[in-house]
Amino acid sequence: MRQPTFICHSCGKRLEYATGERPCEVLSRWLTVSQWKGLGAVEHYNFCSFTCLKRWADTHVPQVPEAFLKAFEEGKGGKNAYL
Ligand SMILES: [Zn+2]
Repeated sequence: MRQPTFICHSCGKRLEYATGERPCEVLSRWLTVSQWKGLGAVEHYNFCSFTCLKRWADTHVPQVPEAFLKAFEEGKGGKNAYL
């Protein structure tokens, strides 16, 4: 049984739609992210705006990129990283 409601995964905003309405029309200007979870498994996340998408993505981005960038900066020559 499907509940005819989309919920923004970031701010929790609800978007209800009547059965019979097409999601592609109701979800106009919303964003949907699909995450592949394995064989045949896909998870969808809906967001009401790019702001919400970014906020959600930021909380799910592991710390790795920041450390990676830092290492990259150091390696770029400022700080005698490898010499
Ligand atoms: Zn939102």
